[in-house]
Amino acid sequence: MSFATDNVERILNSLERYNVEIVAATKTRSIGEISDIINNTPVKVAGENRVQEFVEKYAPEITWDFIGQLQTNKVKQIAGKVRLIHSVDRISLLETVNKEAGKAGIIQDILIEINGGREENKGGLFLEDVELFAQKVKEYRNVRLAGLMTVAPPDCTRDGLEKIFKSAYALFCGMKNEYPEISKLSMGMSGDYMIAADCGANLLRLGRVIFGERK
Ligand SMILES: *Cc1c(COP(=O)(O)O)cnc(C)c1O
Repeated sequence: MSFATDNVERILNSLERYNVEIVAATKTRSIGEISDIINNTPVKVAGENRVQEFVEKYAPEITWDFIGQLQTNKVKQIAGKVRLIHSVDRISLLETVNKEAGKAGIIQDILIEINGGREENKGGLFLEDVELFAQKVKEYRNVRLAGLMTVAPPDCTRDGLEKIFKSAYALFCGMKNEYPEISKLSMGMSGDYMIAADCGANLLRLGRVIFGERK
């Protein structure tokens, strides 16, 4: 057992009553640290948020998600190598993901990112724009909508977090009629994952609480 695998065990115990999947957020972590978690705990997916780091660490035997903001000109470097892109928030990106997925011969699962805190200079769509964007996703043959994702503002109060997470959950549930295939609601990080789980998240992206503080 390592520090990180102990942490995973403790986190999983605290989440016992929820039906949630954990993605290990692996920015700044070495491939050794990542493999330790994937090989020795029930956490089976690594989430990268920088393309450069993803390319350096990529190992085909590990399941990877892409969780960070994504530039269109970098999509080809991850195409065919990630289970899920969490951060799709604009048509140009959707178009590029569709094109590169086609070239790679796959259907790419994506989440629509919501800017739940309505922050400036932050990725994600405002809540009220998500459904129109979801309609657009249907037009792209090599992309499949798998759900929604949100990152809460760093300085949020507990009330603020609950408001953001609950409204994302409400939208997610409301969309299930028209999009029966959506199944993933990605929200909750080290500082807020219990609140997110309580509000209906089923996919948590956890970094520091697994690996320790970043250097
Ligand atoms: C870094 C990161 C996380 C994990 O953050 P921690 O606070 O280390 O748990 C989750 N989601 C995204 C998009 C990230 O960039």
